[in-house]
Amino acid sequence: MAVVCPECDNPIVIDTDEVEEGETLQCDECGLDLEIVSVDPLELAPVDVTGYDDEDATPIVDEEDE
Ligand SMILES: [Zn+2]
Repeated sequence: MAVVCPECDNPIVIDTDEVEEGETLQCDECGLDLEIVSVDPLELAPVDVTGYDDEDATPIVDEEDE
């Protein structure tokens, strides 16, 4: 089974017998990380870089070390 990369339309062939929900793979063409959100039907979603979630990800930028 094949899906197309949402980023570059590169066809990505996936053997649904060998993957599981929650697995991630990478597009060979553009390097986009894709997470398998569903196997049947096969559905992929781009893995967002952390930052959209409301996590404790406060960057420390106010550190003065001079
Ligand atoms: Zn791609």
